[in-house]
Amino acid sequence: MAGEIVGSVEMLRRLVAFDTTSRNSNLALIEYVQQYLQGHGIDSKLVPSEDGKKANLFATVGPNVKDGVVLSGHTDVVPVDGQPWDTDPWTLTLKDGKYYGRGTCDMKAFYAIGLAMLPAFKNAKLKKPIHFALSYDEEVGCIGAHGLAARMASEVPKPRAIIIGEPTMMTVVHAHKGAQIYITKFTGFEAHSSMTHLGVSAIHFAGEFVHYLNTVQDELDAKAPKQSEFMPAAATFNVGTIVGGTAGNILARECEVLWGYRELPGLPIEALGDRAIEWLEKELLPKMKARHPAATIGTVLRSSTPAFSSEGNDEAKALARSWSGSNTVGSVVYGTEAGIFRKTLGVPTVVCGPGDIAQAHQPNEFILASQIDACEGFMHRMIEWCCRD
Ligand SMILES: [Zn+2]
Repeated sequence: MAGEIVGSVEMLRRLVAFDTTSRNSNLALIEYVQQYLQGHGIDSKLVPSEDGKKANLFATVGPNVKDGVVLSGHTDVVPVDGQPWDTDPWTLTLKDGKYYGRGTCDMKAFYAIGLAMLPAFKNAKLKKPIHFALSYDEEVGCIGAHGLAARMASEVPKPRAIIIGEPTMMTVVHAHKGAQIYITKFTGFEAHSSMTHLGVSAIHFAGEFVHYLNTVQDELDAKAPKQSEFMPAAATFNVGTIVGGTAGNILARECEVLWGYRELPGLPIEALGDRAIEWLEKELLPKMKARHPAATIGTVLRSSTPAFSSEGNDEAKALARSWSGSNTVGSVVYGTEAGIFRKTLGVPTVVCGPGDIAQAHQPNEFILASQIDACEGFMHRMIEWCCRD
């Protein structure tokens, strides 16, 4: 079967053209990749989301044996809403050695290059397999990766190394913070704003919660080590959105706060969240109820991205360094799916991919053409390694 030959840039152009903003289905992209792989005689397996609107994909090139390499990427991208783009974000556009488009660096380029090099993978006499692992909903809290990693753990012979191709400028990243995101809903009791004694404003108490998070942040900052591989050194809180109230002269009945934090590896990811929830229940809720007994506070965990610890990743580090030619091994503060894959498959994992995280999530996101070349070089050296015993 003769599959289609597609260069890295052309493959990136095709993948960027799918608007895979996390709120949308990613199935059009997944089906395209599936057909492309099929054209080259490679079967892929899908791991659908519960509602069937999205899917992860995994596929193996080469012998179905252990000791292979996993190339992992997420298919979704962040929204372009309200961002001042100079070009169409869904049309790959070359200007001054930079390819512009949503998802170019975060992170379609990594697996676009891998897919474009499929004929090279196939023509090599691979003794160790190369696995593709594409997930959905990374950008909204690494939701798809859990199911993907679990399926691969049971169906793929144990790999030697997992490469998460998030943008690191092809340097090797061996650790990152974890992230928890919660939604807390404050329910008060409506009253005319002149009659504050008759009700309780959900917004005012949500504000107290934000203040509480600021005081915990101050405490964490004060205790943070002076020397740290992370910048900032401490765990960091963020309140992402607050939605509540209906009018200027009504005590707000409802207020919803989307909040979370990024914790250091090695510390229990849920501890800060548990502490905040306990404060809400024991300290804040009684004060609200004293104003009106109908008041409630409810918190749900929206997503959890485990931290990625540097421990146990030495082999993946050594391989990625030799394939990328990068001498630096470092850490980052943004989250990736690395912790999920590391934990679920029990396989040494690193983050290493083309492009700069500084361009991710921005208007006019781009990837340097030279980074595409660097990643192709990485893949070629990986192929050589996969051909050895
Ligand atoms: Zn990403």
